[in-house]
Amino acid sequence: MRTAMLGKTGLEVSRIGMGGIPLQRPSVEEAVRVVHRALDLGVTFFDTAAGYGESEERFGRALVGRRGSVIIATKSGRRTEEEAAAELERSLQRLKTDYLDIWQLHNVSNAETYDQVLGPGGAMAAARKALQAGKIRHIGLSSHNLDIAIEAVKSGLFETIQFPFNYVTREPADTLIPLAAERDVGFIGMKPFAGGMLGRADLSIKYVLQFDSVIPDPGIETVEEIEEIVGLVEDGDWILSPAELEEIEARRSELGTQFCRQCGYCQPCPQEIRISMAMITEAMWKLWPREIFMEWMGGVIETARTCLKCGECESRCPYELPIRERIGESIAFFDRVAAEG
Ligand code: SF4
Ligand code: SF4
Repeated sequence: MRTAMLGKTGLEVSRIGMGGIPLQRPSVEEAVRVVHRALDLGVTFFDTAAGYGESEERFGRALVGRRGSVIIATKSGRRTEEEAAAELERSLQRLKTDYLDIWQLHNVSNAETYDQVLGPGGAMAAARKALQAGKIRHIGLSSHNLDIAIEAVKSGLFETIQFPFNYVTREPADTLIPLAAERDVGFIGMKPFAGGMLGRADLSIKYVLQFDSVIPDPGIETVEEIEEIVGLVEDGDWILSPAELEEIEARRSELGTQFCRQCGYCQPCPQEIRISMAMITEAMWKLWPREIFMEWMGGVIETARTCLKCGECESRCPYELPIRERIGESIAFFDRVAAEG
């Protein structure tokens, strides 16, 4: 497996990582088999989060006896020092390790949250103490908001930044990726397949691998998926042909007016609707186990039903998405799934 350095962390990771959201869906035995296959194929970088259901436990079980040869990254979405520190202890237990290679402040996607995690009593204080105590080796941040991610990289406080990057969400290519490379901050590219929206895996993988400093970490659920992706990485022929570039452009213009980047620029909503969540109901259905989907999305959809159709959100969305229409579709999708039992 090809490898690459992850910014200033000094960590040498496989050229592609394995993301852990979908690992919750198969049986425990199957999840362990998928991770073992990834290891056999040379994948050494595993990224999960405390909030991904049983994902951490499953990685922990699968990586027993392999700790010394893998890089483990996880995340905490807790915002206060106390809560984040407690969550870190749980992550260490679940992952069956006494240290994490990278611990990331999870989904810091608006200014208020950024200020909170970095302010007095915020999660960053827990990260600093954990670093001193040797419980974590590097501090990272994940975000869906380009402005916040850029600020985080400029702050010099983080050694890695995790951000969505694919040929539809390609805005980071002009700003965030070169900036991170210049500051030697490792760039972990989440959602290389845009949450399963892009179709052909080869185009998605080739596109992101053109960027030397990007380490993509696609979410993997099956042995077949990891085999296909590693095959594409090892092939080494990442140059996109004119026909492939044309196909990418066609797909991009088709999805460009539908695809929510989860950047949060459309907020706030007078009804406190979590717009970006309400926009990705179908993608969530594909990624998460039914029980968790119903619990999480049930609340989001209930609030979405109160939409006033005022259009304030649409005037703020930089991608001009038809948010009101998409929310209506999300509600209909949720109701259909709920009715199926
Ligand atoms: S609807 Fe638009 S502004 Fe809101 S999160 Fe999605 S892409 Fe961003
Ligand atoms: S249209 Fe609906 S979702 Fe958008 S701001 Fe108004 S109430 Fe909120």
